[in-house]
Amino acid sequence: MAFGYGFPNLNDDQKHARRVLLDFYPQVAQWSALAVFALFQFAFLFSWLTCRGLAYERPRSPSFSKRTERTWLKASQQSWDKLLWWMKKPVFPNWGTTGEWVGGGVWTTWLLYLSFAQTGNDYMHLTKRFGIIGASQLPLHYLLALRSPYSPIQYLTRLSHEQLKAPHQALGRIIYLFFLLHVAFYLNGFVQLGFLAKRIKDKDVILGLLSISLFTILSTTSLEPLRRWNYRVFFTTHVLIASTVLVPLYFHVSHIRPYILETIAVFLLHQILRILSTKIFPGTITLLPGTQLVQIRIPLSSSSTALKWKPGQHVYLRHPSPSTSLFRLQNNPFTIASLPAKDKQLLLIARTLNGTTKHLADLARSLSSRDGGIHASIPLTLEGPYGASSHVPNLVAFDRILFVAGGVGATFVVPVWRSVVEESGSGDAAASSVVNRVRFIWAVRKLAETRWVFPESASISTSGSEMHATTAPVEIFVSRPSGADLQVNANGDADDIELAEHDQLLGFEEQMHSLRKGVVVHSGRPKMDRIIEEVFGKGLRVAVLVCGPRGLVEEVRERVGWWVGRGAEVWVHEEVFGW
Ligand SMILES: Cc1cc2nc3c(=O)[nH]c(=O)nc-3n(C[C@H](O)[C@H](O)[C@H](O)COP(=O)(O)OP(=O)(O)OC[C@H]3O[C@@H](n4cnc5c(N)ncnc54)[C@H](O)[C@@H]3O)c2cc1C
Repeated sequence: MAFGYGFPNLNDDQKHARRVLLDFYPQVAQWSALAVFALFQFAFLFSWLTCRGLAYERPRSPSFSKRTERTWLKASQQSWDKLLWWMKKPVFPNWGTTGEWVGGGVWTTWLLYLSFAQTGNDYMHLTKRFGIIGASQLPLHYLLALRSPYSPIQYLTRLSHEQLKAPHQALGRIIYLFFLLHVAFYLNGFVQLGFLAKRIKDKDVILGLLSISLFTILSTTSLEPLRRWNYRVFFTTHVLIASTVLVPLYFHVSHIRPYILETIAVFLLHQILRILSTKIFPGTITLLPGTQLVQIRIPLSSSSTALKWKPGQHVYLRHPSPSTSLFRLQNNPFTIASLPAKDKQLLLIARTLNGTTKHLADLARSLSSRDGGIHASIPLTLEGPYGASSHVPNLVAFDRILFVAGGVGATFVVPVWRSVVEESGSGDAAASSVVNRVRFIWAVRKLAETRWVFPESASISTSGSEMHATTAPVEIFVSRPSGADLQVNANGDADDIELAEHDQLLGFEEQMHSLRKGVVVHSGRPKMDRIIEEVFGKGLRVAVLVCGPRGLVEEVRERVGWWVGRGAEVWVHEEVFGW
């Protein structure tokens, strides 16, 4: 054979010794995940200690241009921030972040080491080791997919289900690689030994080949182009195969059963937690006039547990049509755009696309024509709440807070912004001190898309919404306004309206007169470089929350990254709708 590996004849003692090693190394592989979680705890401790230390050293002046003394604490915190920033950078567009590649590479190398360690020259030992090391990662892989606030991994890493999708995906690929190596080495071994024709008919081999075929379908349908082409195909095959592949794996060989049983336990726990998080609420579905937006309103009673849901969390809305079984699988995430405790309602705003959201828009239309404009309640199934917003720090503690929303991304930004400007101080002085440090930029195509936050005066009383209550400033940038006296360029392309006009308010007074005090409307797109420079030029510590199209999020990331490189103390949360 190659690389010193061959097929030595083993006596019973040697076979027993091999079995002991075959059981030992996958356990090391499984338990070594604890080292990763321990690293997270060290990172949190380090962050906490530097934050506390820096709180004493921080000068009173909020001017960033005033150079503070660069103590070792400050220097180490800045290096840490730069490292984290570098880890979050994408390697290539849509090819994962540097952190994912580094983390995935280190983990693969470690598992490869555990596969080769003490295998001597025994080819079959190495072959079996690939399989069992791969199987030892299955419980962790399923745990990473646990969509529940009770997930131990979310608790230990302070990452949300959405943020854990990347390591879940990476580990899935690593497991698949180890299973492929296991199958390829076995088949090669059978050929070398002349056993292929005989062994291919054996139950363990048939079940092994069935499992790898299922894993191949699972991995292929998870690839980004396919996921984007048809999310439903990905979702359905993923759910079906992830649950059924455990059966052939369990019966494949007895040695991997402890790992398969652990995986089944995680899978069942996931299903139970999801059922417990699912509730039916009566609510209305309507279309927002002049937009592609569907509005879902769910009034909450004073005893509803949903009153405690936090700003920025999201829920999974099951398609409210029980007529076809396929729709029952449609389970899309939408952000809670209201402050449940204050507004006494859950508000979801969905932008109409081609799949589930199109069905929602059709349903809104048919309900409206059936009920003659009266918005009758229908039962809506919601699962949640979920989301990273429970890990958002106390934003009021920052010198400056920048909120950036693009289009329907405001469903995430608006409630967090409102919670800061409306709930941060009891006295007028406290409230105005916070409001002065906050900047909210919202880019939309049409002004009408902002109506769910700033309803026209006429609709305020009927909607029962208090979303217009705050008078904190908001800068809205309209890229495709449709007002009568709209100023467009020579080609008539509203998208190209440049920032030279930013300080010039749009002329469509009839749309704007109903907007509340403090809302400033500009035409064109926001110039993020200028905005970020203005914000960072005034603050030592800046919090940035951004949610919107990928391009906008990337632009903000790039500009903020420049300030991180200059040593600015920044906390950033990027929320992207989709993956
Ligand atoms: C955390 C989060 C919050 C979101 N909040 C909003 C919001 O407030 N308003 C809004 O308009 N859009 C929101 N979205 C995006 C929204 O879910 C999709 O844009 C929408 O479902 C796509 O509708 P479609 O008609 O194309 O449906 P489909 O064809 O059914 O879905 C297509 C896309 O929706 C996303 N999607 C669908 N189901 C899931 C799922 N179970 N898990 C993760 N992603 C899924 C995927 O990106 C997929 O590519 C959010 C997405 C996420 C991940």
